[in-house]
Amino acid sequence: MSRRHDELLAAIARRQGLDIGQVQARVQARQVRSGGLLWPGAAARSLALSYALERGAQRLAAFLAAGSRHVSGRTLDDALRAARTEAARGHLATLGYWPPPGQAPDELARHYVAAVEAVGAAGIDASVSIKVDLMDYRSELLDTLLRAAAGHGVRVHFDAQGLETADRTHALVEAGLARGASVSATLPARWRRSAADAERFIAWRVPVRLVKGQGGDPAQPHADPRRCFLELVDRLAGRAAHVGVATHDRRAAEPALRKLLASSTPCSLEQLRSLPRLDALARAAGVPVRAYVAYGRFGLPYAVGEVFRRPAIAAWVLRDLLVRHRPGTSAPGDLG
Ligand SMILES: Cc1cc2nc3c(=O)[nH]c(=O)nc-3n(C[C@H](O)[C@H](O)[C@H](O)COP(=O)(O)OP(=O)(O)OC[C@H]3O[C@@H](n4cnc5c(N)ncnc54)[C@H](O)[C@@H]3O)c2cc1C
Repeated sequence: MSRRHDELLAAIARRQGLDIGQVQARVQARQVRSGGLLWPGAAARSLALSYALERGAQRLAAFLAAGSRHVSGRTLDDALRAARTEAARGHLATLGYWPPPGQAPDELARHYVAAVEAVGAAGIDASVSIKVDLMDYRSELLDTLLRAAAGHGVRVHFDAQGLETADRTHALVEAGLARGASVSATLPARWRRSAADAERFIAWRVPVRLVKGQGGDPAQPHADPRRCFLELVDRLAGRAAHVGVATHDRRAAEPALRKLLASSTPCSLEQLRSLPRLDALARAAGVPVRAYVAYGRFGLPYAVGEVFRRPAIAAWVLRDLLVRHRPGTSAPGDLG
């Protein structure tokens, strides 16, 4: 192999924090996937390009998220105001604090406890969503939070993060249930493990928020999110303790609610405040709406890197570039 090729592999390894062996294995995998069309040099360059695109997508996502209109504000007060607005419309709410990158787990846990206390004091019907991977799965922090939540009669919801976080997150859901805490959990639909996770949640009698899932599963990269979502509805119908149908996709929400109602499964429609909402659908079906009130530093409700598979994302990126949220003003999701 040429010196330039070796230098390219070394540069990829350095940038990605991999060792040379791992980079070589990925280059070879690319060659195999191309059916031998790519020679080693081209496969290495295509790997470097993929990483560069991924880095670019992450930077763009970070920039968009920093001024995102998808937050209801930066502070807990902003979130409470939004939750009260939802309550005035007869809706439930979930407060979801999104921390800045690198926030220490105990500081994050303090934010969650503050949210629980504020919801309790405000007397609104709202749960508090948490991201236990960002709390470093620290059970003592979770214990403190669950104690506070029990004291205020507030439910704690476990958001789903990446696939790799699922086992440890579910272990903490189970621990919470074992101590009698009021908890609920997100079930992403497009992972290979989703059906097994659904069975576990059914057996635990834990209320489920069903989503398509932000992060995919490399084991089934081409899974159709809507089809996966509806397959899980079939599995949950008549068996789950409660299903929050969390989608803005009418063609997923409508049949999901119909099926759940027909099987007498307790259910609700869950909506992000910043996206076009399907509240009318819930009204017509006679099910409650729960609004997810994101505050702090919210991410994006789509994956920038998926733009080639889903061109509509380009328009959403453009809108998020143009419509920026300025601190001190209300986000568009708060209007009306
Ligand atoms: C309440 C709630 C909680 C969630 N919690 C989690 C979680 O814990 N973990 C997780 O991985 N994912 C979570 N998600 C995100 C979810 O996994 C999806 O990524 C997200 O909801 C988009 O998928 P969709 O089902 O709404 O359908 P999509 O097909 O992506 O969107 C449906 C329609 O909504 C509109 N739309 C969607 N996005 C935009 C946009 N950015 N701008 C303008 N219009 C848009 C479009 O009309 C689109 O056709 C949550 C979603 C909701 C609603």
